[in-house]
Amino acid sequence: MSEKYLVINCGSSSLKFSLYEMPTERVVSKGYIEKIGYDDSFWTVSYNDEKITGAKRLENHTDAVLVMIDELINNKIIKNLNEIKGIGHRILHGGEIYSDSVIIDDKVLNDITLMTNLGPLHHPGEIAGIKAMKECLPDVLQVAVFDTAFHQTMPDFNYIYAIPYEWYQKYKVRRYGFHGTSHKYITNKMQEILGKTDVNLIICHVGSGASITCIKNGLSYDTSMGLTPLDGLVMGTRSGAIDPSIIKFVVDESGLSLENVMEELNKNSGLKGICGKNDFRDVSALMNNGDEQAKLAYKVFMDSIIKHIAEYYFELNGRVDAMVFTAGILENNVQIRKDIIDNIAGAMNVSLDNQNNENIGYGKDKKMGLITSKESKVPVYVVPTDEEVMIVRDTFRLIKETL
Ligand code: ADP
Repeated sequence: MSEKYLVINCGSSSLKFSLYEMPTERVVSKGYIEKIGYDDSFWTVSYNDEKITGAKRLENHTDAVLVMIDELINNKIIKNLNEIKGIGHRILHGGEIYSDSVIIDDKVLNDITLMTNLGPLHHPGEIAGIKAMKECLPDVLQVAVFDTAFHQTMPDFNYIYAIPYEWYQKYKVRRYGFHGTSHKYITNKMQEILGKTDVNLIICHVGSGASITCIKNGLSYDTSMGLTPLDGLVMGTRSGAIDPSIIKFVVDESGLSLENVMEELNKNSGLKGICGKNDFRDVSALMNNGDEQAKLAYKVFMDSIIKHIAEYYFELNGRVDAMVFTAGILENNVQIRKDIIDNIAGAMNVSLDNQNNENIGYGKDKKMGLITSKESKVPVYVVPTDEEVMIVRDTFRLIKETL
């Protein structure tokens, strides 16, 4: 009987899953269930070339897990539940406690629950997902894979904010960084490509969420996201780093509550705040039609990437083995890759290979590769990220170690 492992990513009203066969890492099935807790919950499950959809009210995450199990069994994707040997969960925040993935026991679940203050938008859904899986598959081990874990190697001068030190001591206010699973995946991939472990990299993960990480000697040394994913780069709907005084100023001027302003900064800022669109394809289309707001949004977005690259280039004192472009926007959009490289060409001595850049992306033959020329001092690669495979690898590793 083949061994299957589930990777689960729960939001407050959603559950995404991937079912892997291990150790081959073959994806057997993928699916998502949305609008949990609403009347119009719906789901999609794909396997081989089939795609199944369904809809009915799902009260909670346990209902969603039951639907997932039904679909897997009814469509003969698995014969029975005994095939599932482990479950890996993407968890937003591991605080300072977790620098690696961990098997979930009562203490771990309690820690994740206590850290809800650090991940108020994510942890409730993630905890519901863990509990629902426990209810439906009580004998299967579950693993937590934290988005923050990889960044726990940052030195203190890169994670301490210059605010009263007791805010760190009492409330653990510090830079944690996110997308750690992706940055770790890319680091491992680049270690393979470059044939050494002590790599110095600048990894630009730019999708609807975006962060840049500075890797020194193979470890996370600095990263753009902070206490929460709101810090750092301009994103699809998030502002990125702003003057903190803006928050009180807007509360006073607009009469909006603090909660409303925070929601605006998370959900209606970034590209969307400037030009009304958060999907990069829409921003590009508007720009190509001459829309001035979209052009401004693109420029602000790109400049924030360039400024972070510059910062990390200097932090590494120019000793950069490679720069990597990854996630939805940089894996696919040829134009922004070209514009970023053209803008740093003189300062970093990099030059684009136009043909290679054109050949990589969605719908093209190549999904990854080098996009700079031989003369470029720093090689720039496009490497598709794969957070889910990292989650299943950790889940498989920890469960095998335990048994
Ligand atoms: P997240 O994982 O944070 O939800 P993704 O990494 O999937 O985000 O990236 C989503 C972003 O990638 C969107 O802004 C989308 O427009 C952009 N994107 C996806 N595919 C393409 C494409 N073919 N061309 C340009 N942009 C794309």
